[in-house]
Amino acid sequence: MGSSIGQSPERPVRVGILGATGAVGQRFIQLLEANPWFEITAVAASERSVGQRYGDACTWRLSVDCPATVRDLIVQPCEPDLDCELVFSALPSATAREVEERFADAGYGVLSNASAHRMDPDVPLLIPEVNADHLGLIAIQRERRGWDKGFIVTDPNCSTVGAVLALKPLHDAFGLRRAVITTMQALSGAGYPGVPSLDILDNVIPYIAGEEDKLVKEPLKLLGTFSAREGRVIPADIRISPACNRVATRDGHLETISVELERPATVAEAVEALRAFRSLPYELGCPSAVEPTIIVREEVDRPQTRIDRDAGHGMAITVGRIRPCEVLDLKFVVLSHNTIRGAAGGSILNAELMIARGMLS
Ligand code: NAP
Repeated sequence: MGSSIGQSPERPVRVGILGATGAVGQRFIQLLEANPWFEITAVAASERSVGQRYGDACTWRLSVDCPATVRDLIVQPCEPDLDCELVFSALPSATAREVEERFADAGYGVLSNASAHRMDPDVPLLIPEVNADHLGLIAIQRERRGWDKGFIVTDPNCSTVGAVLALKPLHDAFGLRRAVITTMQALSGAGYPGVPSLDILDNVIPYIAGEEDKLVKEPLKLLGTFSAREGRVIPADIRISPACNRVATRDGHLETISVELERPATVAEAVEALRAFRSLPYELGCPSAVEPTIIVREEVDRPQTRIDRDAGHGMAITVGRIRPCEVLDLKFVVLSHNTIRGAAGGSILNAELMIARGMLS
């Protein structure tokens, strides 16, 4: 935990989980149960599960047991009368758009994993270590939408998170012009049951619906500049060419990235910039934040998905094989845990940042 110069809650914040029975919902439960700042008081899912004990409605698929306190909760409909102050949303995007707005309208804070609101101009798309100042959009969101207490804050697509955490220090130090990103994405990224086993065993699928478009657009918002005067985020001027692939790993998205920089950088200078990166939420004492957030490895064959995905309890990213690129300037490999850093853990850190900054009193 960090050195605690931010605020912390006097009592645990009461939270609900929308889509609690799914792959990301289960991660929320696992991570929140161990988090001193939160208490799970409501779980909600689809009509299929409503009215059942969580332990009966959900097929628990994580290797740690489902917490006993949550097993006995009754699954509620995703309606804004849940017994909690904040909701974490792990709903499918098609459902999330309308449901999340209804919760925010009713005064709930909504921390969402879904893509539905990520690119709305008045909704923060947040990685606390990268663009904490974008939380300034909340005042604009409330004014535009007539919400007095509620809000929506989103976290990025799971393959965007690892890429942007690695690109941020390089962009700040050397200026980023273009990036070519190839992903090797784990099966858990498709939810459960996800890709049929006969489609993915002995195979790589070179297409993930909607994924490349997110990797083109989301980094520009995340690395963009919040203008309070204009009431918007001015997108970064970077061109990204992604290719997204589904591979037969369980958790952890591996990505190879080549970058073109505005100012030349040696490998040693890039390593120094990545190693010098400091985590604001860690400094503020957020329980889920880790230092270092970016782990740089020297071994020629790291990071590897199975070995490195749990680094920093799944909240750190690992960067390796930093070397000159024969076409652009530099190239490297990035690994991040898709359901922790890239989903539930990222959303929880967003909520912690807001608490530490006194935005959730
Ligand atoms: P999932 O395993 O399919 O779970 C979906 C959840 O939503 C279940 O709890 C399901 O409840 C509930 N649900 C489905 N339709 C609903 C409806 N009409 N009304 C209310 N609840 C409904 O999906 P997932 O992988 O956890 O993904 C959840 C969200 O997180 C998606 O938007 C996804 O894009 C995003 N995300 C996922 C990852 C990842 O690595 N998996 C990473 C980042 C973001 P029932 O069990 O009752 O059907």
